[in-house]
Order: sequence, then C-alpha cells, then structure tokens
Amino acid sequence: MLFPLLSQEAMNILGAALSLVIITLGITSILKIRQIQRLNKTIAYLKKSLDELDEQAKLIVRTDLELNKTQEELDKKINGLYALQRISQDVGKTLDQNDIFQRISQEHIRQIGFQKTLVFTKNQQGKLHIRHQVGFDEEQIQHIENKFTWPGLYDMLKEKSITLSSASPSQEMRQVIQSIAAATNLDSFIIAPLSKKEGLFGFILLAHASGETALTVTEGDEELVAILASQISQALENAELFEAVYSQHQELERKVEERTKELSGALNEIKLVNQRKTDFVSAVSHELRTPLTSIKGYASILLTGKLGIVPEEVKQRLEKINIHSNELTHMVNNLLDIARIESGKIALKLEPLDILSAAAYALDLLSPQIKEKSIQARIDIPQGLSPALGDQSQISRVFINLIGNAIKFVPAEGGSIGISAFESGQVIQVNVADNGIGMSQNDTEHIFDEFYRADNAINQKVKGTGLGLTLVKNIIQAHQGKIWVESKLNQGSAFSFTLPRCKT
Ligand code: ADP
Repeated sequence: MLFPLLSQEAMNILGAALSLVIITLGITSILKIRQIQRLNKTIAYLKKSLDELDEQAKLIVRTDLELNKTQEELDKKINGLYALQRISQDVGKTLDQNDIFQRISQEHIRQIGFQKTLVFTKNQQGKLHIRHQVGFDEEQIQHIENKFTWPGLYDMLKEKSITLSSASPSQEMRQVIQSIAAATNLDSFIIAPLSKKEGLFGFILLAHASGETALTVTEGDEELVAILASQISQALENAELFEAVYSQHQELERKVEERTKELSGALNEIKLVNQRKTDFVSAVSHELRTPLTSIKGYASILLTGKLGIVPEEVKQRLEKINIHSNELTHMVNNLLDIARIESGKIALKLEPLDILSAAAYALDLLSPQIKEKSIQARIDIPQGLSPALGDQSQISRVFINLIGNAIKFVPAEGGSIGISAFESGQVIQVNVADNGIGMSQNDTEHIFDEFYRADNAINQKVKGTGLGLTLVKNIIQAHQGKIWVESKLNQGSAFSFTLPRCKT
C-alpha cells in the first residue's frame, strides 16, 4: 500500500487531484491534436499553393519562350519586308528582263533570310532555261533543271510554293523534291512559282546555305518568298509589255520610214512629171504667142483699111478675130505665168507692201465695172496696218483677180464687196468677201485647180478660163502664204489669204 498512512480524507483529496490532473492532461492532448490537425491542413494547403505556383512559373517560362520566338519571327518578317521593298524598288527601276534578274543580288537574298537562289523561266518553246543563280554549281543546276521537266511539279506549283516539308500529293512528287535536296546538298529550301495572266512561266528557288543548322523554312519565309515571286513576275510582265510596245513602235517606225521613202519617191516622180508639164505648157504657150501676135497684128492692119476697103461683114469678122485673139493672148499669158511661178522662174521682188494701197489700186482699176453693176465696194483696212512682205505687181494681180471674180459673181443691183485685212501673229491676213452666188462644197474643194469652173448660170454666160485662181494660189504660195475660201451657195463667198508680215 502506498498511502496506508493517509487518512480517508487525504485519500479523497489526492484522488480528486489526480483526476484533475488526468482531466487536464486529456484536455491538453485533445487541444494539441486539434492544433496538429490544423497545422497539417495548413501544410497541405501550402503544398497545393506551391504546386500551383510552380505550374504558373512553368507557364510563364513557356509563354516567354514562345513570345521570344514570335518576336524573332516578327523581326525576321519586318526585315524581310524591308528587304522586299528594296528589291521591289530596284527591280521596278528597269524594263529590261535580264537586268531585272541581275538586280536580285546576293545581298537582297541574304536580307530575306536565304543565301542561295536560282531562277528558271520557260522560253517560247516551253523549254526551261536558267536566268539567274547565286551559290550553285553547274552540276546542281543541271540536276534541278532535269527534275523540273517533271510536269507534276508544275501542277503542284500552280497551287502554292513547295518546301522540303511540304505535304506531297504523291510518292513520286516526294521523291522529286528529296532528290533535288540530295543532289544539291540542300536541307532547307523553298520553290515559288513565277506566274502571269497566262499562267505559270517559271519558278524561283531560295535556299539556306548547307551546313547551317537549325534553319528551316517557316510560314513567314513562305509568305515573303511568295511576295518576292509575285514582284518578280510583275516586273517581268511589265518588261515584256514594254518590249512588245517597243518592238511594235520600232516596227511602226520602220514602216513609216519605208512609206516615207516610197512617198518621197512618188513625190519626186510627181515633181518630175509636173516639171515636164510646166516645161511643155511654157514651151507651147511661147510658141502660141508669136503666131497670135501676128494674127492680131494682121487683123488690126486690115481693120484700119490701109490695105483696101474692108466690107462691113468682113470688118465684123475681123473684130471677132481681134476679140478672140485678145482672149487667147490673155489665156496664154496666164498659162505662161503659172508655169513660170510653178518652176520658180519668176523672181519675186519682195519689199514692204502696203496692203491698203494695193487693195485701193485694184479697186480703182476695176471701178468702171463696179459702177456699171452698181456694186457697193468697201475697204476696211486700218491705216496703221503693218506692211506685208510681197511683190507689189504680183499682189496687185491677186487683188485684181479676186475683186474681178467678186464683181462677176455678185448681182447687178444690191451686190456688195468688202475688202478687209488684219495682223495675226507673224502674218497679215486679207479677206475679199462678196454676197454673190456662192459655191457648193464640192466647188470650193476644186476651185484652185487649173481650168476648174463651177457649173452655174453666170459661168454659162460669161467666158472664163478657170486659170485665174490657180495663178492667184501660185503667187500666194510663192510668198510662203496660204489661201482658202469659205462659201455658201446663193449667199456669197469669202476668199482669204495670208502674207508674211514685214519685220521692221
Ligand atoms: P474664171 O473666173 O476664169 O472662171 P477663176 O480661176 O478665176 O477662173 O475662177 C474659177 C471658178 O471659181 C469660177 O469659174 C467660178 O465658178 C468660181 N469663183 C471664183 N470666184 C468666185 C466668187 N467670188 N463667187 C463665186 N464663184 C467664184
């Protein structure tokens, strides 16, 4: 017995105290256990959070790597686009096909991320031939050329560009691509089509230099090369168009030259024929003048009665001979003058010419006819008009012919003629207008031809030769001037001519 000596009371107190201790210990243990449980929960929670954090960190690292890659790709693309812009500018500067290829330099190729290039185009016979290359040897080029005769390749290129990793539609196709890679020692390349409206006409191959590791063709590369190929295609198409236009232009020039030669030959012939005609007319007119003068002379002598009395009937015939001889002489003289002016045998005496005086002189000379038909004739030329450069006697003939015609073709009562002149740049323009019977358009087109006379009532009554206006035209042209007519049937005509202004 441990506590034999203790009283019952003490024993009770001890028992109670022990119970209290045991209870206290129990409670403390329970609290500790709860505390441990809570700690365990916290540890588990922390562990989970740690795992999550670890996951997130891994994700951030992965995202960062991807971002770097994208950034790299983007930088490559931007550089490539800059390079493309430079190539485009360079290539666009020329319209010569060969020059276009020469401008795709090694530097340009390097800037878009490649080191080797090869361009083939089809010629007119459909045969491939090399146009440009950087970094390949003869044997490799030959090999690629041979492989490219395979038609399936063209079919595939029609769709899109080809890379070593392209999904090939057929086993044969795959072999072709791999054989190109093997024979050329390439492990990364891209082939893009060169095409124009009519279809595919060649291709461009761009490759990384062999031995460079980790270089593969990316989607970005494919896009850049597709743009490059379309730029080259466009430049080649432009050059082709230019060449076509240029060769057409050359052809046209050749034809124009040929025709000009033919025309100048024909013109020379016409000139020769014209010269012969002029010589002939001139010779005949000369020959006619002498007998005409004799006829006129004899008729005049006979008319004087010095050779015996001339009966009235004979007198009338002789007078007719005289009138006809005068007409003939006038005609022969006109013909001779036309021939002389045409052949340049009449030397013009060019001097400052007062147009107002020349017009007034002609009007004065023709005043009897003007009065006879009661025509209103008016000169409307300013006093201070600059002088023309002309031969006075020849220009007087021009005025006499034009005013004489106007008198002939205006009506007897109410006829009017107006002569005006003005300065226009380096020339003096003169107009002789009337309100006479006018002319049809067909007549105005032929009016200056030799012997041309319009078919009208006045011409049927009044005689004429149809040589006056030809002479007038020749005189004006000999002065380096121009002459033309504007006329309306039954309303009137206006003849205009120009003469050079006399430079003071
Ligand atoms: P001609 O007067 O001797 O017939 P011209 O050469 O002077 O020869 O004129 C040719 C023709 O031009 C005339 O016959 C006439 O039909 C036409 N013609 C010329 N001047 C005029 C005019 N002022 N009005 C109408 N017709 C004219």
